[in-house]
Amino acid sequence: QNTQHFRPTKAIIDLRAIKKNVSQLKEHLQPNVQIIAVVKANAYGHGDVEVARVALDSGATMLAVATPEEALHLRKHFPNTEILILGYAPESFATYAANENITLTVYSKDWVKQLDTQSFTKPLKLHIKVDTGMGRIGVTSVEDFLELHEVISSSSNIIVDGVFTHFATADEEAEEYFNHQTQLFKHYISLIPKPRLVHAANTATMLIKDASLQFDAVRFGISMYGLAPSTYVKNKLPFPLHTAFSLETELIEVKQIQTGQSVGYGATFTATEPSYIGTLPIGYADGLIRQHSGQHVLIDGIRVPIIGRICMDQCMILLPTAYNIGEKVTLIGSQKNEEITIDEWAQKVNTINYEIPCIITSRVPRIYH
Ligand code: PLP
Repeated sequence: QNTQHFRPTKAIIDLRAIKKNVSQLKEHLQPNVQIIAVVKANAYGHGDVEVARVALDSGATMLAVATPEEALHLRKHFPNTEILILGYAPESFATYAANENITLTVYSKDWVKQLDTQSFTKPLKLHIKVDTGMGRIGVTSVEDFLELHEVISSSSNIIVDGVFTHFATADEEAEEYFNHQTQLFKHYISLIPKPRLVHAANTATMLIKDASLQFDAVRFGISMYGLAPSTYVKNKLPFPLHTAFSLETELIEVKQIQTGQSVGYGATFTATEPSYIGTLPIGYADGLIRQHSGQHVLIDGIRVPIIGRICMDQCMILLPTAYNIGEKVTLIGSQKNEEITIDEWAQKVNTINYEIPCIITSRVPRIYH
């Protein structure tokens, strides 16, 4: 995987951090609760195969993804691991899913009725999704739930392997909505014979909520990568998280500009004194979106700002002195006593930490340590 890269911009993925996060979670969970490693979206931008491997080695027993394509990609590397698609898969994928032993999420009896189950070489495993308040996918009435369960149970070659739901507010202090969802979910599962895997917990639920909500398995996403789902959860963590993702590059040019000279498209930065400007080979096509202008980066352990407009492939920083070309610049991560976190990046562009590693594009190689 770590093939030769010429451009110095790279994301460094610390797999030991992921290992620690999974191992600590395993200690924290009730005995016999399975860990489903959520590795959708290329493992939240960290690299699906590498993260899956270390998660499985550290105690996870199952992988979860969002799409058929993500599942098939992992299946090539993990021929025997259970893989669950949490999101939508069209009926046309069901035959592939059965043959490849990929578990699908289901929430519509019409979808099930369209399956050509006779073509399956192995039984297709299904997890029924109950929408208890997320308003996204899932059955929304007891009647639909029971009908769907009945349609699956009475068909050959398909089985109800699991039932699950997803919480909308588990990472918030207010509990009312969350409690409403948990009660509703418990009611649904009381209506059918217990399937092999009942699951509901995302990171926030497994870390700060009642242990009974771990059911048979938990879906470990954001904190596997060392990030807390919210500030509220961050302040209540049962064990320290270790961040896996950092982003680095190098100075590719250094120049001095005089008072009144400007930098970048639109000439939006103008020097008020003689200044050193450094150019970095990273831009919005790498996921460093234009709203990141003003964000600090680290050079020589010092925070310096990105100035002017961020270009597609490059951006410019204001230097305190004339550093050499090739000097290391950390965009996310630590240098000496300074750290720039993913949370800081998220705050700068008014979003959540989940989004930051996901939008660092595939042009930035992931290097594994
Ligand atoms: N389960 C489902 C259905 C999800 O969509 C997600 C993430 O979006 C997760 C679990 C993991 O959540 P988290 O990353 O907060 O642990």
